[in-house]
Amino acid sequence: MPMPFARRLDQVETSAIRELFKLLGKPGIISFAGGFPDSAMFDVDGIRQAAEAALRDEPGAALQYGATEGYQPLREALAQFMGGKGVQDMAPQQLIVTTGSQQALDLIGKTLIDPGDKVIVEGPTFLATIQCFRLYGADLVSAPIDADGVQVDRLEQLIVEHRPKLVYLIPTFGNPSGATLSLERRRRVLELAVQHQTVIVEDDPYGDLYFGDAPPPSLLALSHEVPGSRDWLVHCGSLSKVLAPGLRVGWMVAPPEMLARATMCKQFSDAHTSTFAQATAAQYLRAGRMPATLARVRAVYAERAQTMGEALRAELGDAIDFVPPQGGLFVWARLTGARGQVADGNVFAQRAIDQGVAFVPGAPFYCANPDHATLRLSFATAGVEQIREGVARLGQALAG
Ligand code: PMP
Repeated sequence: MPMPFARRLDQVETSAIRELFKLLGKPGIISFAGGFPDSAMFDVDGIRQAAEAALRDEPGAALQYGATEGYQPLREALAQFMGGKGVQDMAPQQLIVTTGSQQALDLIGKTLIDPGDKVIVEGPTFLATIQCFRLYGADLVSAPIDADGVQVDRLEQLIVEHRPKLVYLIPTFGNPSGATLSLERRRRVLELAVQHQTVIVEDDPYGDLYFGDAPPPSLLALSHEVPGSRDWLVHCGSLSKVLAPGLRVGWMVAPPEMLARATMCKQFSDAHTSTFAQATAAQYLRAGRMPATLARVRAVYAERAQTMGEALRAELGDAIDFVPPQGGLFVWARLTGARGQVADGNVFAQRAIDQGVAFVPGAPFYCANPDHATLRLSFATAGVEQIREGVARLGQALAG
C-alpha cells in the first residue's frame, strides 16, 4: 500500500546533485563539490570554552526549553554583531534566532507564499531555496545576473510583469555564482522594494567571508538611506560559514508583523533553536573571538581561491571563463566550448569523476532556462596542494 504523500511533494524533485554526491565516496576523489566550510578551520577550543562557560554560568537556561524568538543574550549579541556591520538602530527584538538560515527560508515560505504565487530568484540561485519555495507552491521566475549581481533593469521589468510575492537575492558572494551586487544596484533594489511594494529577501551567509576589501554594506545596512525600504526587507544571517554549521544558529531580521508570524510558525515546527547551541554561540560572541576567527578564515580561503583561480587559468586556459571570486566559497565558471572542447557541465562532471575530481554542474541551480555550460567549484575544503592536483585532473578530463 503506497503512502498517501501530500501533493505538494510533487513540486520538488530529488536533485541531480545528490546523484553526483553518491560518487564522492570513491577512494582518492578530490572534491570541489561540497558547499561546506572546512572542518579543519573550526575554532574548536573557542567553541569548547564557550560551551563550558554556558554550562557553568547558565546551565538552567542552556538546557531548558526556551523562548521561540531566541535566547535573549544571543539576540543581544547578534544585534551587536549586526551593528558592527553597519546596521543602524539594530535592537535585539528586531531579530529572531532560527535553526540555521535554512529555517529562516522555510519560515519565509510558510508565512508569505501561497500556491501559485510568483517569486523572483536569481538565475542561478541556492538550490535549497528553489526546493523550499516550490514546496510552498511558488511559481519561480528567474532574474538574470552578471558579475555585479542581479540585473536591476531586468528585475524591475520582471517585478512589473509578474507582481511577485517576494524577490529572493543573495547579494554578497552568491551561492553558486560568487557574484556581489554593486552598491549602486543595492540602492536601486531598495528603491524598487518601496516603489513596487515588494518584499525583498536578503540571504547573507557569506558577507563576512571577503578576501580583500570589504563588500558593499548589506541591503539591511543600506536600508536607512532609502526611506520605507526597511518595511519590505527580510534579512537572513548565519553563523554556519564563519563559525560552524553544526551549531545550526541563524537569524532573521524582519518588520515586526512578519517576525511575529514567523515566530508563530517556528513554534509549531521546532519550538525553539537548541538553547545549548544558542547559549554557546552567545558566549562565543561575547568572548570577542569572532574578529580573530574571521581574519583566520578569510586568509585561508583567500589563498585557496587564488590557487584555484591560477590553476584553472593554467590548466584549462580558454576552455573556461570565470570571474576570480572576491569572497565566499565558490568559483562559478562557464565552459566556453573553445576549439571543440566539452561544453556541457554534466558531461564534464562525469569525465572529471573518472579522473578522480568532483564538482557540481551548474544547471540545477537555475529554476528555469538552465545554462548547461556552467560549473560550481568549491575551493573551501581542499588544501592548496590538493587544489593544484584536482585542477590538473580537470585538465586531463578536458583533454580525455
Ligand atoms: N543560504 C545560502 C545561500 C546558503 O549557501 C546556505 C548554506 N549552504 C544556507 C542559506 C543555509 O545555511 P545554514 O542553514 O547552515 O545557515
